[in-house]
Amino acid sequence: MTQRPSHLFYQGRQRRPVLDQARGVYMWDVDGKRYLDGSSGAMVCNIGHSNENVLEAMRRQMEKSTFGYRLHFETEASEKLAAKTAELCPEGLNRIFFVSGGSEAVESAMKLARQYALATGEGSRWKIITRAPSYHGCTLGALAITGYDPLTKPFEPMMQAMPKIPAPTAYLDGLDPDDEATGHHYADMLEAKILEEGPESVLAFMVEPVGGASTGALPPPRGYMERVQQICRKYGVLFILDEVMTGAGRTGAFLAAEHWNLTPDIIVMSKGFAAGYVPLGAMAAHERLVEAVLDDGGFLHGYTYAGNPLACAAGVAVIDEIERNDLTGNSAVMGARLMERLTGLMQRYPIIGDVRGMGLLTAFEFMSDRRTKAPLPKHLKAFDRFVNIAYDNGLIVYSRRTRMGLEGDHIIVAPPMIVTETHLDEITEMLDLSLAQFTDEIRPELDR
Ligand code: PMP
Repeated sequence: MTQRPSHLFYQGRQRRPVLDQARGVYMWDVDGKRYLDGSSGAMVCNIGHSNENVLEAMRRQMEKSTFGYRLHFETEASEKLAAKTAELCPEGLNRIFFVSGGSEAVESAMKLARQYALATGEGSRWKIITRAPSYHGCTLGALAITGYDPLTKPFEPMMQAMPKIPAPTAYLDGLDPDDEATGHHYADMLEAKILEEGPESVLAFMVEPVGGASTGALPPPRGYMERVQQICRKYGVLFILDEVMTGAGRTGAFLAAEHWNLTPDIIVMSKGFAAGYVPLGAMAAHERLVEAVLDDGGFLHGYTYAGNPLACAAGVAVIDEIERNDLTGNSAVMGARLMERLTGLMQRYPIIGDVRGMGLLTAFEFMSDRRTKAPLPKHLKAFDRFVNIAYDNGLIVYSRRTRMGLEGDHIIVAPPMIVTETHLDEITEMLDLSLAQFTDEIRPELDR
């Protein structure tokens, strides 16, 4: 690849090919090389690239208007998307606030929760408990509740770091995730933390239903989600689901909340919600919260681009596509098949220590020893190297370090929800080839 000068620094010093076109599950760079988008970007492009119905809906909206400031106009598109979102949310979450991304949605939830406490005479409540590891966004508010030291530490003097409880990493702790006792074990850490902090000071608990970038497609152990909801109710703590990654069908239900019949106070979403066609996110809040805040002078929050008609028209068209083609159902079916294939690869490659996921949000984690769960040594930079090998082989996957202190490498495989069995064959083949090359490459370094 030729080195081009650039004013951007998204990738640090690493350069990437220039994207030319994308259609369905494939992307092409300007040199004509084809990639299978095995992670839907960053778990965003849930309905695939360049969907003609969405593009047509956007064109139609652009011909009418692209922007109407939300304090000047209501728009048909934002009303329609709000109504549809409310219909897809659990009972009572029928008030929708649009934003332009996940971090903005998280900030909105933090501030609505705080204003609700103030409006209801509970101004002593301000702490938001989350888990570590967790990822809730990169703005300073969202960072304060993100449980990942390498990202948060440098900014700690500039924000109010919030209390954390351990994420339910049963697979690392030698506990059976299918045993309810395991779920209760981790959930009860929330109760202990609320009591330690003082219940009167705790505003909310926010949780990714399936751990995403932080823990790598990690579903909760049995009984965990129901129990944390119960604990929140017991102490008057608001229960907030961060469905930025899990929403819009990714886990085999439109919202992951459905898997456990949860009735949270707030749900935030983004990513698959507009599937990469426009920057869009949403906060769905219980009407009880919104009415209290509106009665108390209104929500002190709002972004200029929020709720613009173009973004909302794209959002409506994306949900239409998901529903019309039952992509959520396909996510459940293809997700189960993808898990079987990853499990097959794990049987052949000892370097894979764990396979996990829900719907089409799946991952495998590298370990140097399955029995002790020891991660690969940090200096191998496995997560980076594997992604680059797969990339060269034409497969895009997403990777992060799993455990606190930058240890453990997981690879997320989360293709668009339009995948067929033939696409899964292709993904498996490219993973197989990449794992063989990766294992050969690092073996001498591991033995050293
Ligand atoms: N919450 C979760 C669970 C996420 O996965 C992300 C993004 N990875 C965010 C929040 C932040 O979203 P954004 O990058 O759109 O600000």
